[in-house]
Amino acid sequence: MRCAIYPGSFDPITYGHLDIIKRTSHFFDEFIVLVSNTPRKKYLFSAEERVALIKQCLSDLTGIQVDIHDGLTVEYARKRGAQSIIRGIRVVADFEYEMAMANINKKLAPEVETFTAFAGPEYGYISSRLVKEVAFYHGDLSNLVPLAVQQALHAKKGYQ
Ligand code: ADP
Repeated sequence: MRCAIYPGSFDPITYGHLDIIKRTSHFFDEFIVLVSNTPRKKYLFSAEERVALIKQCLSDLTGIQVDIHDGLTVEYARKRGAQSIIRGIRVVADFEYEMAMANINKKLAPEVETFTAFAGPEYGYISSRLVKEVAFYHGDLSNLVPLAVQQALHAKKGYQ
């Protein structure tokens, strides 16, 4: 059973994340989008809200699981028997961080392999942080996130 985990904040999920999920999930028997929820980070959406949005955006894809985790991704991978971690790279700036994380994870769990996918050319500029910035100032979100996410952003206090 080939099982992969795609961990991230997904605060909120964007067309960039969805592109990575669509392009990589079919290589695996089991694919888990893992919503990280650490008290050390401040999120706009609660973990439950982020999960609900991901599920809405994935309704046309079958067999993808969504879960919440506070802790090391490799520990979650071990618990679930997953051999692979998926991450995305948009720009050179992402590379150093992703490589460091992949190397740390390799030290912690040599049996787990990190696979990185390059952002699709039309999505490489999209980040959750910039999406929130655009939403805050009522900019056009239609090329950045699906409708459900646009509506959830517009419903957030301070973003109306
Ligand atoms: P984190 O806080 O763990 O970086 P994110 O939700 O920001 O969580 O990102 C999760 C993963 O998805 C990261 O590997 C990130 O590089 C990747 N990612 C984010 N946005 C995009 C995008 N537009 N295209 C491709 N990959 C992306």
